[in-house]
Amino acid sequence: MKKRVTLIFPKRSVYMPVTYRLAKDFNVATNIIRAQIAPNQVGTAVVELSGDIDQLDAAMDWMRSQDISISLASREIVIDEDTCVHCGLCTGVCPTEALSLDPQTFRLNFTRSRCVVCEQCIPTCPVQAISTHL
Ligand code: SF4
Ligand code: SF4
Repeated sequence: MKKRVTLIFPKRSVYMPVTYRLAKDFNVATNIIRAQIAPNQVGTAVVELSGDIDQLDAAMDWMRSQDISISLASREIVIDEDTCVHCGLCTGVCPTEALSLDPQTFRLNFTRSRCVVCEQCIPTCPVQAISTHL
């Protein structure tokens, strides 16, 4: 079976060969959908895990034991274009540059493929134009 999850790595786990360990120790394949992982920073990745249900559960228990947070809900960011006033405040907190202001039109651009659903942008929006959905 497959599970799509969001992983948040503490600084000390960023260098850990997690996908290798999942494959070798649990026979779980990892398809990285998007990731934002840099040295000495908290890392975030949206991944699809494939494997036997028991092995998947064991793999997730192991990740939790390594202080990797796992969010099972596969959420997506939604920008309400009717509400957004293109102020650009959210672009300042986005760690992956998924949010940017178009230099020509000064309108907000959202590049979904870069978003790691860290949700840091949600509280910055003064008009509550950003939300998540499953
Ligand atoms: S949730 Fe918001 S701040 Fe985080 S990566 Fe996605 S767009 Fe950027
Ligand atoms: S903070 Fe809110 S209103 Fe401002 S650009 Fe971002 S989504 Fe639009």
